[in-house]
Amino acid sequence: MRQSNMLIPTLKEIPADAEIKSHQLLVRGGFIRQTASGVYSFLPLGKRVLRKVEAIIREEMDNIGANEMIMPAMQPAELWKETGRWNNFGPELMRLNDRHDREFALGATHEEVITSIIRDEIKSYKRLPLSVYQIQTKFRDEKRPRFGLMRGREFVMKDAYSFHDSYDSLDQGYQKMYQAYENIFRRCGLDFRPVIADSGAMGGKDTHEFMVLSEVGEDTIAYSDSSDYAANIEMAPVHASYQKDQADLKELQEVATPGKKTMQEVADFLGHPLEKGLKALLFKVDEKLVLVVTRGDHEVNDIKLKNLYQAETVELASEEETKAAFGAGFGSLGPIDQPEDIDVVADNAVKYAVNVSCGANKDGYHFINVNPERDFIVNTYADLRFIQEGDSSPDGKGTIQFARGIEVGHVFKLGSIYAERMGATVLDEQGKAKTVVMGCYGIGVSRTLAAIVEQYHDDRGITWPAHLAPFHVHLLAMNMKKPEQKQLAEKIYDSLKAAGVEVLFDDRAERAGVKFADSDLIGIPLRITVGKRADEGIVELKQRDTGEQSEVHEAELLGKLNNLV
Ligand code: ATP
Ligand code: MG
Repeated sequence: MRQSNMLIPTLKEIPADAEIKSHQLLVRGGFIRQTASGVYSFLPLGKRVLRKVEAIIREEMDNIGANEMIMPAMQPAELWKETGRWNNFGPELMRLNDRHDREFALGATHEEVITSIIRDEIKSYKRLPLSVYQIQTKFRDEKRPRFGLMRGREFVMKDAYSFHDSYDSLDQGYQKMYQAYENIFRRCGLDFRPVIADSGAMGGKDTHEFMVLSEVGEDTIAYSDSSDYAANIEMAPVHASYQKDQADLKELQEVATPGKKTMQEVADFLGHPLEKGLKALLFKVDEKLVLVVTRGDHEVNDIKLKNLYQAETVELASEEETKAAFGAGFGSLGPIDQPEDIDVVADNAVKYAVNVSCGANKDGYHFINVNPERDFIVNTYADLRFIQEGDSSPDGKGTIQFARGIEVGHVFKLGSIYAERMGATVLDEQGKAKTVVMGCYGIGVSRTLAAIVEQYHDDRGITWPAHLAPFHVHLLAMNMKKPEQKQLAEKIYDSLKAAGVEVLFDDRAERAGVKFADSDLIGIPLRITVGKRADEGIVELKQRDTGEQSEVHEAELLGKLNNLV
């Protein structure tokens, strides 16, 4: 295609709101434009890359026998009410009313729609297993849309759903999807890792996230330095073997700690290491108040707390709520003589605390020489903290290290929750009704595109892998006003097109310097420059990623390209 005829608005300057490379380069290279916060247009170049990523996904989905379909973005509230998610999904779900004042949601995901179809159309176990997928726009009113395509409010997802008559069959379906996902992300040229993820309190079983390794990832992966164990720190269980200090229990004592609020301030003031203080935080678990106690050097993992209570929501109580319940603010909370109707749950490490400090539930005061059991009661001990670097790996092999990851895909053994709530059953061999078992599988297609750019760029622009690039070849004429350059460039353009090469022809009346800079920015893998030696039929061929260049006679060009593309 001719660049003079295409919408490729490149920019020299970095857009002020673009913090990460993929966001900067996709905007600067003219691939995308923001239409509203978290809402993007894919310009012609962006659309071409998106279609190539989609093509890989389609092939791998079709290969495992998944059926492609398209479900509506506009979904009646009734469906979401059947599963209870009309209330539980929260403000992320975009809602609207039609002219008759009927309520709708814009599809954030499609479990409800597909389960209603399967419920109505599939009556016998003989029709199972069955997998479907779609590549479609999703809507989520994210709290913090950011990083360009990474976290949008409107984005492209591939979502797939599998239906089974047994958990064994689900296991097999899951395995196939998992393998297809590995193929997809490998074919996208990504350095990625499948990690164990949190299956929540919703009754789901196995779940893995596919993480692209990247400094800008929003997720943290805990992996073992000596095995293939890798998990999202949201769920990674802590298997530490704590030691109990053999010291004699000292007498409990209240001390003034004026103005000392943070764990570190209190520890410094009392002259003990951070781990010798107990941290107490008041949480609202659904509507119930729960005091969570951990060691001072540990962080409460609210997802573990949520799972412990099988709760829908978990959040920190506000300082006002805390004061109302305890008579003391954040800096002085503790489990001693706490209000009776409030549960105290403690992380396993707390059991091993000896002569430690904690807040006295009185502003500006702490207790020292605190000992659990003797001085306060814990309703439940559980694994409630985030794993840390240096902890032993949950699989018993090696030590935990951290890496950052971008979640590009998610596979999940959903089980029967949705099918149960929506009454999706089939008749089994004995003619008895049986609830179907489901899996669901997502890929953030537009997020994957951004992740590819995170891994393929240099300081001049994007360095697309050849099979994902918007075009294979970028053809430039240094000076379109020179007849010999123009003629040769036109000739090469025609012959490349005729040979089926995807070629972008920069035929603009721009300076050579502008054309080179744009070409590096856009990142097409091969560049052909028609310049000074056009009258001899000689052009320059340059590889974008390595910078390797050579002079080639136009007659040998196609042969040479065939080797490279
Ligand atoms: P996240 O934790 O990043 O919000 P999620 O757990 O909500 O993701 P899923 O519901 O599993 O995501 O959706 C499937 C896939 O869709 C994710 O793995 C991710 O790649 C992609 N995705 C989710 N939310 C967004 C978004 N706001 N913008 C772009 N892609 C997204
Ligand atoms: Mg999300």
